[in-house]
This record gives sequence, C-alpha cells and structure tokens, in this order.
Amino acid sequence: MTLFVQINKRLVADSIINIHCPNCNTAGVVQMVIYQKYANVFFVPWMPAGKDVLAKCNNCSAVFIKKQFNDGLKQSYKDIKKGAAWWMYSGLTFALLLIVFAVYMGIQGEKENEILVLAPEQGHVYDVKLEDKVFTLLKVTAVKGDSVYLVQNQYASDDYSGFNGMRDKPYSSDVHAVPKKQIKDWYDSGFIRNIHAD
Ligand SMILES: [Zn+2]
Repeated sequence: MTLFVQINKRLVADSIINIHCPNCNTAGVVQMVIYQKYANVFFVPWMPAGKDVLAKCNNCSAVFIKKQFNDGLKQSYKDIKKGAAWWMYSGLTFALLLIVFAVYMGIQGEKENEILVLAPEQGHVYDVKLEDKVFTLLKVTAVKGDSVYLVQNQYASDDYSGFNGMRDKPYSSDVHAVPKKQIKDWYDSGFIRNIHAD
C-alpha cells in the first residue's frame, strides 16, 4: 500500500512572526514553519492532505504545536497560511479529465451508431449479443434495395471485450438477408451492441 499511496510534505512557510514568545516573552524570535501535506498515488500528486504547523522560539527553544497555540500564534498561522498548490491536485485533475473524455467519447459513439444503424452499408460490422455471455460479429456483405445481406463470424466470445481479436477471424459463407428496418430494431433491442464502419 505504501507504494501506491504516499503522503509527502512541502515547506510552504518558514518565517519569524511578529508576536512575543508565550514562554520567554521575547519579541521577534518566534519562527513559524508550515508544511502542506499531499497524497501521492504512484508518485503523482493526487490531492492535498492537510497541514503541519510548528512554532519555535529561537531565544528559549520552546516549541509549540498547533494544539498549544495561544491566540497570537493562531492569528499568525491564519495570516500566513497558504493554500495548497494547484499541482497537488494533478492526479485528481487527470482522473476527472479522463472521465469527462470517456463520457464524451461514449456520447459521440452512440450518436454515430444511431446514424450508422439507419444506413447499413457493405463492410459495416455489428457487435452482437446472441445470448447471455455469447458475443459474435455480423458483417454486411451487400445492401440491395431494402435488403441487408449478413454473414456471421465463425467465432464467439464469452465477454464483450473479446471482440477486438474476432474481427480478423473468418465469417460463415451462409448469407442471411434481413430488411433494413431489422438493423435498427436489433440496435434498439440491444442485440446489436456497437457498429464499426471502418
Ligand atoms: Zn521563547
């Protein structure tokens, strides 16, 4: 797990603050150090993960953690507190962009399918679900008038992702003719899952 997610920290402030030390009451000697923590996922900054803050007196060496801050220290912390840097969100931003892109591509793909399904052409290949866990391909060999001529791939896959390799496999020589409207109905009913026109 430590390899996947790591918490790193980066110094964001290190300055002498304008208060009296709560311990020795000396002015101009208290130093405040702030670290911004952020989560790395596979070495990519993913998101900010809180801050570490510490005040130390350069005169009496007293150290104050956040819980021990008096009002003066709290105010100073508020004044110099800096936000997380944009790059600490790199991974999260990238993931969101990927999701947006995937959704966009999905919508584009659907639009394209809806057009293709109405205009079958020789060479179109349909991903079809014959039954539960049986997927194969149908290829349009010809379109004549209102008839679409189809051949079925000789191979079937038990999962949808198996389609990629199947396109190079041989098709049956049995040709089936169906009316054009059938293609649209098959798409609407989910029998045709996707269409390739390239
Ligand atoms: Zn002090």
